[in-house]
Amino acid sequence: MPARQSTPLEITDVSGYPGHADQVFSPRDEEELAALLVRASEERIPVTTMGAMTGLAGGAAPQGGWGVTMARFRRLEIQAGRARVGAGVLLKEVQAAAAAAAQFYAPDPTENTSSIGGNIAANASGSRSFLYGATRRHVLAVQVAFMDGRIVEYRHGQKLDFDVPQIPLPQTTKHSAGYRLTPRMDFADLFVGSEGTLGIVTEAELQLLPAPNRIMAGVVFFPSEETAIDAVERWRPAPGLRMLEYLDRASLQMMDEHFNAAVIVEQEGEIDLDMNGALENDSWFATSPADRERFRRFRHGLGERANLRIRQGGYMKLGTDYAVPRDRARQVLELYRGTLDRDLKLPYVIYGHIGDAHLHINTFPSSKPEFDRAKGVLDGLAYPIVAMGGTVGAEHGLGKRKAHLLSVQYKPDTIEAMRAVKRRFDPHWLLGQGNLFGERNSV
Ligand SMILES: Cc1cc2nc3c(=O)[nH]c(=O)nc-3n(C[C@H](O)[C@H](O)[C@H](O)COP(=O)(O)OP(=O)(O)OC[C@H]3O[C@@H](n4cnc5c(N)ncnc54)[C@H](O)[C@@H]3O)c2cc1C
Repeated sequence: MPARQSTPLEITDVSGYPGHADQVFSPRDEEELAALLVRASEERIPVTTMGAMTGLAGGAAPQGGWGVTMARFRRLEIQAGRARVGAGVLLKEVQAAAAAAAQFYAPDPTENTSSIGGNIAANASGSRSFLYGATRRHVLAVQVAFMDGRIVEYRHGQKLDFDVPQIPLPQTTKHSAGYRLTPRMDFADLFVGSEGTLGIVTEAELQLLPAPNRIMAGVVFFPSEETAIDAVERWRPAPGLRMLEYLDRASLQMMDEHFNAAVIVEQEGEIDLDMNGALENDSWFATSPADRERFRRFRHGLGERANLRIRQGGYMKLGTDYAVPRDRARQVLELYRGTLDRDLKLPYVIYGHIGDAHLHINTFPSSKPEFDRAKGVLDGLAYPIVAMGGTVGAEHGLGKRKAHLLSVQYKPDTIEAMRAVKRRFDPHWLLGQGNLFGERNSV
C-alpha cells in the first residue's frame, strides 16, 4: 500500500484552514483504497478525503488520522452524451476533453483546477448553473468506496432502500448545506453534496451536452449598483442566458477597473439584452472562445485576489456563501450593505452569482479583534438569510469552518435525521470528521 509518511503533516485547503494528518495515502485504485478503509475501520483511524484542495470550507483539511488523496484516480473517457471520470481528474480536464469532442460539461465552478471528486462532494456550481443547475443534475452515476471496504456504483434512478424524512429545503436554486433528504430519493443524489462524510467517490459518469454553436459574452459596466440590479432583473428571463455574475465597486477596484458596478453575461445565440442604464460604450463584448476565456479569468482573478489579500494578512479567508430565492437579489444586497456599512467597519467586496441571488461577501481584517468581529457579523447574517427562504451554504459546502451554520438552517430533528444517515454508512464516524456536524466524534 503506497503511503507518503511524514508525522505530523500540515495540510490546509485554499481557505487556510489548519489541518494535519498522521499519514497521507495516495491509493492507485479501488482495491488499494478498499484495503486502506478496512484497516482504518479496524483500527478506528479517522479518514479525510482530499481532492485538489481548492475548497473554501476546510472540508479536506484532516484533523489527525489519515488523509487520502484521490489524485491517482485519473480515468477519463468521453463518449456520446457522457464521460467516465475518475475522482482525481480536474474539472478543466473534463471541460477540455468534452470540448474536443464537440460536447460540453455544463457545471463550471470558477475554480477549474478543482477535482471532479471535490465537485461532487460539494455539489459545486458556478456561473452557468444559472441555466444548467449544479453538479448534482449532471451526475448520471457515482461509484463510492465505504469504510467497510465495499465499492458500489449507484446509477441515477436507483432509489434509497431505507427511509428518510422529507426535510424542509430552502427556496433557492442552489443549496449545498447538509444532506438533501427526500423520501424515495436516489442514492446518487444523497452522495452528491455529502462532503466526504458517507463514502469516498472514486469515479463518476457525468452527463455531457452538445456544445452550443454560438455564445455571446459581455462584461457590462454600470454607473451604479441600482442600475446594475435593474438590468439583472430585466435580463433574467432572456432565452439562452446562462450567466449573470455581479462585481461591485470595491471588487472592480481590486481588479484595477474604476466603475461602480459590472455584470458579466453569457448568452447562447445572440446577445439581445436591453442595455438601458448600462455604460454600453465602456463595456466589453465578445464572441470568440479566447475572449470568453479572458472574461472568465477576469472573474476568477477576483476570487483569487480576495483569497490572497486575506491570506497575506495572515488570516483565513473570511467570506460568505449564502443564497436567497432569485427574486430577492435586490433585497439581499440591501441587507448586506445596511449591515456591513453599520457593523463591519472594514473593507469588503461583494461579488458572485447574482442570477441565482448568490453573492459572496469577502472582508479583510488586519487584526484578531477585527477578524472576530467580522466573523460575528457574517455569521449573524445567516439568520435573516434563512428567514428569507435562503441557504447558509450554496456551493462550497459547510466543511469544518461553517459546520456551526447547519443548526441555523435546520431544526435539531432534521439534523438528527442526517446523523442517522451518516451512522448507517459510517458507523464509527471516521470519515470526514468535523465536516457538516462539527464535532469530531459524534457516534
Ligand atoms: C478562486 C476560487 C473560486 C471558487 N469558485 C467556486 C465556484 O464558483 N463554485 C464552487 O462551487 N466552488 C468554488 N470554489 C471552491 C472549490 O473550488 C470547490 O468547493 C470545489 O468543488 C472543491 O474541489 P476540490 O477538488 O478542490 O476539493 P477539496 O477542497 O480537496 O475537498 C472539498 C471537500 O470534498 C471532499 N472530497 C474531495 N474529494 C472527494 C472524493 N473523491 N470523495 C468524497 N469526498 C471528497 C473533501 O473531503 C472536502 O470535504 C472556488 C475556490 C477558489 C479558490
